[in-house]
Amino acid sequence: AALVSRRTAARRRWNRAVAVVRGLEEGCATPTERLRRVANSLAIEMFAGLASEGASKVRMLLTCVDALPNGSEQGIYYAIDLGGTSFRVMKLELGSGSMVVNKKVEHQPIPEELTKGSSEDLFNMIAFALKNFIEREGGSAEGKALGFTFSFPVRQASISSGSLIRWTKEFSIEEAVGKDVAQCLNEALVRNGLNLQVTALVNNAVGTLAMGHYYDEDTVASVIIGAGTNASYIERSAAITKSRCLLTSELMVVNVEWGSFRPPQIPLTPYDICFNDGTHNHYDQAFEKMISGVYLGEVARLVLQRMAQESDVFGSSMNCLSTPFILSTPCLAAIREDDSPDLRVVGRVLEQQLKIQDVPLKTRKLVMRVCDIITQRAARLAAAGIVAVLQKIGRDGTLCGTTEARKIRGEPKRSVVAIEGGLYQGYSIFREYLNEALDEILGDEIASTVTLRVMEEGSGIGAALLAASYSSTRQQHSP
Ligand code: BGC
Repeated sequence: AALVSRRTAARRRWNRAVAVVRGLEEGCATPTERLRRVANSLAIEMFAGLASEGASKVRMLLTCVDALPNGSEQGIYYAIDLGGTSFRVMKLELGSGSMVVNKKVEHQPIPEELTKGSSEDLFNMIAFALKNFIEREGGSAEGKALGFTFSFPVRQASISSGSLIRWTKEFSIEEAVGKDVAQCLNEALVRNGLNLQVTALVNNAVGTLAMGHYYDEDTVASVIIGAGTNASYIERSAAITKSRCLLTSELMVVNVEWGSFRPPQIPLTPYDICFNDGTHNHYDQAFEKMISGVYLGEVARLVLQRMAQESDVFGSSMNCLSTPFILSTPCLAAIREDDSPDLRVVGRVLEQQLKIQDVPLKTRKLVMRVCDIITQRAARLAAAGIVAVLQKIGRDGTLCGTTEARKIRGEPKRSVVAIEGGLYQGYSIFREYLNEALDEILGDEIASTVTLRVMEEGSGIGAALLAASYSSTRQQHSP
């Protein structure tokens, strides 16, 4: 009788762990119709964001980029790319006809204390790295144009300046908010004895769009799915009612800042809401926190922690499940992509990262399921985001539905969306889920007119390309 009751108790505990996963599954459901409504809501927010400042959850920042590189740029340019987990310094040599003759890129991790210290320390570190890079390259910085990719929301009044609106992605140097970040970098460059200045200050989504456009003129938008997430696209100036004084030509690249979108159709799970507790970065980057690399591993950790509280699936030994951010998104991806019959990788990650030993196969399967649910919701929401941008510019097929409409408007045009970011590039199941959702929402015919094209190092290369085009524009315009 004792054995039977022990077994019953064990089964109950197991069932409680399964119930946690079922609850997550229900909370994260993203059927196609719901995704369509998410896309529609975001497109509406985008409209509102172009009407007036503060009218929408998405900032729709005007980037002062009114012309994109077209392949005619030539010469040597430098770029700095700051905004993810590492930062990059690069040198680009351009020949005519969309030809990158030479490219040199160096990655450096950003020490965590610098993301929370003083702006002077952060910009000094960047300037110092650029100085060393230029010296190692044996080149001279003298008068060269510099592209600066700064992947946070910035209010721009010109292509070469802009003030930081707020930090995201766990960066927090409060005294830098409101400052002109290009000027901060320029001052640090002077302090380090470098004679060059920021020519183009660009968001990483804008850089990626610029690189996409350099290679393919059908590129209409860009998406970042890495540490954070965002999109940018080419808008008609006529569709922008706010800040009309910044509109100098017929087109303007808009930085959507979709990370702050809160999709009303998607319920928050208890694991999402927890981000509101205790972190400086309150729950206002909802879309980003459901999609991007800084957060997915952490959502999974919170679910596993709940499972451990509800049952004994992870044994009673000391584990690290209560340590915030201990489970990184690359670990979540490794768990989901484990295709060994005994889920060896899952076991290894649990053991090495979370200090949970000897997890039986059925529990490993449950852990994989958790990572799958979180991945799938993220990828499908990102797909809905892409559809929203296409909808905003009339490329989602809704305008050419009937045969009559087609006679008037013509066949749907080819749309290229440039895409960059470690999460998308490094996680094949994420890509599959995203593409699948895109097909579902758009339907096969329209989906076949949309190409997602990866732009390796797009954010930095694009900044160098914009520095190139804007430095030549300036030369042409100077007396
Ligand atoms: C920032 C965006 C950036 C995105 C991707 C977000 O947190 O607000 O400006 O483009 O991350 O790096």
